[in-house]
Amino acid sequence: MMTTSECTCCGKDYPKLSPAKIEGALIEVCDRCTKFGAKAELS
Ligand SMILES: [Zn+2]
Repeated sequence: MMTTSECTCCGKDYPKLSPAKIEGALIEVCDRCTKFGAKAELS
């Protein structure tokens, strides 16, 4: 069974989200929405 997470930006469910910095806030977004902001550096 696959779990999905809701993209903070577009509100759709995706199996995988990526952290991105959008408008100064670090949020989890889908791959499409990472284009709208600077992708967060993974540490
Ligand atoms: Zn999205």
